[in-house]
Amino acid sequence: MPARILDGVKIAGDIRREIAAEVSTLAAAGIRPGLAVVLVGHNPASEIYVRGKVKACRELGIYSEQHTPLETATTAELLALVEDLNGREEIDGILVQFPLPAHVNSKRVLLGVNPLKDVDGFHPMNVGFLSTRREGLVPCTPAGVMEILRRSHIPAVGQEAVVAGRSDIVGKPMAMLLLNADATVTVCHSKTHDLPAVCRRADILVAAIGRAGMLTREFVKPGAAVIDVGMNKVTERSEFDRLFAGNARREEIFRTKGSVLVGDVHPEVVEIAGAITPVPGGVGPLTIAMLMHNTVKAARMRRGAGRVHLAPK
Ligand code: NAP
Repeated sequence: MPARILDGVKIAGDIRREIAAEVSTLAAAGIRPGLAVVLVGHNPASEIYVRGKVKACRELGIYSEQHTPLETATTAELLALVEDLNGREEIDGILVQFPLPAHVNSKRVLLGVNPLKDVDGFHPMNVGFLSTRREGLVPCTPAGVMEILRRSHIPAVGQEAVVAGRSDIVGKPMAMLLLNADATVTVCHSKTHDLPAVCRRADILVAAIGRAGMLTREFVKPGAAVIDVGMNKVTERSEFDRLFAGNARREEIFRTKGSVLVGDVHPEVVEIAGAITPVPGGVGPLTIAMLMHNTVKAARMRRGAGRVHLAPK
């Protein structure tokens, strides 16, 4: 029997409705959450992401502003901008869109963001809060994965969870969230021996490696919940055929656009997993929803307006 499809678009829509209600409650108390996005230079992918974030703010009633320093901006100039945003009362969240140009010291810029306004959850203070189970701002993509699991009634307690990938923005915080949710967690990376065998142990398998369709059926225990964070663009015909041979809908997209999106999980896994997130339409929509959540949470934390709760399911 094919896997249950975990619909990220629907779940993100539910979360956005809850956030819109929170924003109305805050408005009644005279608070309008505000997000400042810093986009340096002209990276087409980053420009698309930032447009999506600004649009989401508009739709939910969150104030937003964009800062677009030139590609040549120095570390000192970016630190000065961040410092200015740190000091502004109406700005609750500061998001510096990565990657920054190679000459910029990204770590220094990240450290410059006030942890209370760090809506990406990347500041070491928020990393520390997460690993010591304190209230803080949690990276959006892994937080979104936890919402998918929770709202799909997939329990983590006592389960074997395997996270493939150990980046600071996805793999590591993902592992920490699953551990905090009482799963037994294994983290894999490029030096892991016999990756298929380790992944096959998973009741919950999270793929975040950035390799198109690498996790084939031999990586998956039958019935496992598979969360595919990967987002990879396939442009080669041979690669397309390896992944989507016989899939008329994808064939049409590939022919008209010259590319298709695929996760890190091979599409054949749908035949043996118990539940799976599609790509696109799985984890992706949750990332922006959780950014909006973090912005409202930051407003509440910093302005002393109480805790923010996503609706229990
Ligand atoms: P990243 O920084 O490149 O990290 C990739 C991780 O995967 C690394 O830890 C790396 O191991 C590991 N890895 C790479 N090749 C491997 C292999 N052959 N076997 C085992 N492990 C391997 O990537 P990221 O930023 O975490 O992103 C991962 C994926 O998620 C990408 O496809 C990205 O586009 C996607 N993503 C999606 C969203 C979303 O909103 N849906 C958000 C963020 C990222 P080492 O540490 O040993 O190098």
